[in-house]
Amino acid sequence: MTPSLLMTIAFFILPKETVIPSQYLGQTTTTRIKTTNKLLALTFDDGPDPVQTPIILNALKQHNAKATFFVLGKNAERNPLLLQRIVAEGHAIATHSYSHRTSMSPQEADIENTQTAEIVRRYTGVNPTLFRAPFGLTKSNLNKDAISRNWASFNWTVSAADTATTNPEVVYKNICFTPNPGEIILCHDIKPHTAQAIPKILEYLTKQGFQFVTLPELLNQAQ
Ligand SMILES: [Zn+2]
Repeated sequence: MTPSLLMTIAFFILPKETVIPSQYLGQTTTTRIKTTNKLLALTFDDGPDPVQTPIILNALKQHNAKATFFVLGKNAERNPLLLQRIVAEGHAIATHSYSHRTSMSPQEADIENTQTAEIVRRYTGVNPTLFRAPFGLTKSNLNKDAISRNWASFNWTVSAADTATTNPEVVYKNICFTPNPGEIILCHDIKPHTAQAIPKILEYLTKQGFQFVTLPELLNQAQ
C-alpha cells in the first residue's frame, strides 16, 4: 500500500478525538490539562523497544487503557511493526526527535523532525503533529523547529522518574502518588522496571476511578 493511500484511509477512519484542538498547535504546553473528569494521559518516550513496548501494550490492552507514544525516529524505523501495533490498538503516536541528542543546530533539528515524521507517516499513515523535546528542553532548536511547523509540543506534569531508578516500586509510587485529573504522566517504554510497574499502576489508578486516555483525547475534553 502506498503512503498516500494509507494517509487517505487514516483520514477517514481516525476518530475526531485524535485531532489536536487548535489552541495547542504551535505552542509548548507544560501544565496540567483542566478537566473535572478523572482522566489521565500516560505518555511513553524513547521507544519503540522490541522487548519492553509489547509488555506495556499488552498491559494497556488488558486494562482497556490508551496512551501516547513519543517515538524516536531511530527506534521507529527499526521497529515498524510495533509502530503499526501502537496505532492499530488505538494509542496516539507522537515524535521525540530522531536521535535524542541534547544539542543540535537549527538545520540538524529540521532534518531530525522531518525524518522522524516521515518514518511515522510511511509505516502508519499517521501525520504526527504532537511532539515532545528530548529532556523537555523547550528552548532547544528541536522544540523551536517543532513549533515553527505548527506542531503541539507537550512536556509532562508527573514524572515516573524512571531514568533515575531501576526499581519498579519507585516507579509505581512516583506515578500513583495523588495524581490530579488532567495530569500528563512521563514514562519511558525502554525501561524494564517501567514495563514491570505499569500493570500495577493501571490496576490501582483504575480502581481509584481514573480513566487512561490518549493526549489528543484528553485535550478534546479540556474545560
Ligand atoms: Zn526522551
